[in-house]
Amino acid sequence: MKMIQANQEMNNLIENSVRRFAEKGSKLLGNRALYIGASDLASAAGCLRSVAMNKYCIAGQQPFQRLLTFQRGHALERSLFDALAPFALGIEQMEIEFDWNSIKHKFHLDLVLIDQQGEGVTVLENKTTRSEKPELRDSYVTQLQVQMGALERFWDQRCFSAAQAVEKTTFPELVEYLYGIKLKKNINGFIPVTSTQDELGVYGPYSPPGDSFWDEMMGLSARLVAAKNNPAAAPYAKGFHILCDYCDGQQSCPKFAAVEIDGLDPVLQGVKKLREAEAAIQAALAEKEKTLKEFYLRVQNTVGRRYLACPTGKYRLSSSSREYYKKDNIRRMLYENNVPITEIDAILASAATVSDTQSLRFVWT
Ligand code: SF4
Repeated sequence: MKMIQANQEMNNLIENSVRRFAEKGSKLLGNRALYIGASDLASAAGCLRSVAMNKYCIAGQQPFQRLLTFQRGHALERSLFDALAPFALGIEQMEIEFDWNSIKHKFHLDLVLIDQQGEGVTVLENKTTRSEKPELRDSYVTQLQVQMGALERFWDQRCFSAAQAVEKTTFPELVEYLYGIKLKKNINGFIPVTSTQDELGVYGPYSPPGDSFWDEMMGLSARLVAAKNNPAAAPYAKGFHILCDYCDGQQSCPKFAAVEIDGLDPVLQGVKKLREAEAAIQAALAEKEKTLKEFYLRVQNTVGRRYLACPTGKYRLSSSSREYYKKDNIRRMLYENNVPITEIDAILASAATVSDTQSLRFVWT
């Protein structure tokens, strides 16, 4: 690779490399339109339309910012796996593949930790947020629970695979193959969340969900597949939904379709024109005042007077000014008058004001 000289060139190199790297990762997950994933169900529980649009309709490049967020999440998973490796037995990116109501499902579990004594298994669903503080969302819990539900239901079936093992096995067989441990069927789960300020919040423990939750999720999965032929018409989230701002299907979403009202045109046009006129007047006024201020300062410096007036006496021009005290002198004075040093800063802070630069006053008489 030749040496890079321009900032934009480096920017492009990084963006293209991250894109290629991310594509490699998504190839491992296969064509997501052909199966239902745990994250699909977690998102569809909030808005089925957004998942259907994303899955069956919208093709093309992801915004780079979103790719970076995903990659940040993957990097965290990777480093968490490496950090835990000396202390815990783990399986990374384990897949559970099963059919339910003739619908193919593939759930990818970020990280599962195996108890060394074989007492049970802990599922970790790692999340990174765009917010400054770690926060727990309903969709995170749904995703973890649907994963634990599948792990519990298909425990003894040949549905499990992981990068470390080629063949599909039952879960106990996979654990025995990897670590030589005979595992009891105890499952719990946690959700570690990191924020943009690199704060960590850990939520849990959670237990596998009951039958009604599982049935609800499988019903959702059937509705998602049914929406394949017309994703745009799928049910959407009414009211505030946290993901609307990031939704690729927002432009065509009925939630944001405007209601046409007769007679509104001239009113809005009038308001628009008034706003434009207001902006033009503000700009002209600012320009005139700037010129006047320069003139005032010039004349004031020459004649040494604060007030200027027109010969008619109708208009006056003056400037406001303030007196300022030297903070250090006051501090010393307070100290000499035996005010405790711990109180001096508080007194000075409470007396402080923010001053404006000298401003002109126009007086119309
Ligand atoms: S814009 Fe909001 S409501 Fe509409 S599909 Fe997207 S997430 Fe759902």
